[in-house]
Amino acid sequence: MRAEAVVDLSAIKHNVARLKEKAGADLLAVVKADAYGHGLVRVAQTALDAGASMLGVALLEEAVTLREAGITAPILAWLVQPGSDYKSAIELNIDLAAGSLKALHEIQAASKDKQARVHLELDTGMTRGGFLSEWSQITAADVAGLEIVGLFSHFARADEPLENQNKEQLARFKKEIATLNELGFTNAIHHLSNSAATLTNHSAALDMVRTGIAIYGLTPDVSMGSSKEFNLRPAMQLRAALYLVKDVPAGTPVGYGASESTTRDTKLGVVAMGYADGIPRIAKNAGVWINGKRAPIIGRVSMDQFVVDLGPESKANSGDWVVVFGNGSHGEYTADDWGAASGSINYEIVTRIGPRVPRIYSAHIY
Ligand SMILES: *Cc1c(COP(=O)(O)O)cnc(C)c1O
Repeated sequence: MRAEAVVDLSAIKHNVARLKEKAGADLLAVVKADAYGHGLVRVAQTALDAGASMLGVALLEEAVTLREAGITAPILAWLVQPGSDYKSAIELNIDLAAGSLKALHEIQAASKDKQARVHLELDTGMTRGGFLSEWSQITAADVAGLEIVGLFSHFARADEPLENQNKEQLARFKKEIATLNELGFTNAIHHLSNSAATLTNHSAALDMVRTGIAIYGLTPDVSMGSSKEFNLRPAMQLRAALYLVKDVPAGTPVGYGASESTTRDTKLGVVAMGYADGIPRIAKNAGVWINGKRAPIIGRVSMDQFVVDLGPESKANSGDWVVVFGNGSHGEYTADDWGAASGSINYEIVTRIGPRVPRIYSAHIY
């Protein structure tokens, strides 16, 4: 084996239970993008076992994959393209988000044989998906023949809990729900909160929260608090084998562009993962954990490999395993560290781990 992403399903269970308790509401587990890189089907099953009442994905294809795997729980797909095969989605009992009159009409047209389950999405300030001015134009005819099971919106700044926009979005959501209820949607469930709001804004939990990053044990933003402070357990450990270990003298340039040179006689390790596997090429001040210490990247990350400075005293051998990131409990780098090291966020680090890296499931990583 060259590299693997080991996913601790018991950590995901812990996180789902913890978030559900914190919300005091139903929980939709967001499993889009291959469950944030953790593996769609296994994570979905685990989240349901731990008490999630619903699954959420971006794409219809993701929802279809879950149905094909035998999952019968409610699934919401919220990024359904115009012209999609709505009819098959309705037959598969996939809940569809609609954020425009055009989308509603397409779903209506596909809903002749079986009534579609629809969640209306309202744009309360994210300015991405959802009804904006068209919201006030929705008439009974636009929703005739559809089962409106949900009304939802999405926060833009929930990771900055003190920002006024959070209050404004919640107020706007409540107000618009009230106007729409005149069309008879009083049974629809209301959902607004992502992970950040679930962790910090209890008043926005409403009927259901939609938690993504936090079910994987990662904090939505390190400035809000760490995983540990939120009692979340990071579920993934990314590890790789050292392909080669070699002694090099001081002043040896390393890698493409000779962007860095060794500053002393040292031992270098070649790690068999690269940017094709999701290791960010621009990462600075990240590296791996081996034999109880950190070994920083030296030189540029290549497509399939990168080099770390193991230090002159290192006893490492080729074939030894290194931890690229983990939960940090031993001092290893975390997904948060890799995010910071590459001008990005933990979300991007875990979701971009490439398809060449097998996902392994284990209850015992540490
Ligand atoms: C991705 C997504 C979420 C989950 O966001 P997290 O920050 O990962 O909790 C919730 N709702 C919608 C609409 C999303 O696109």
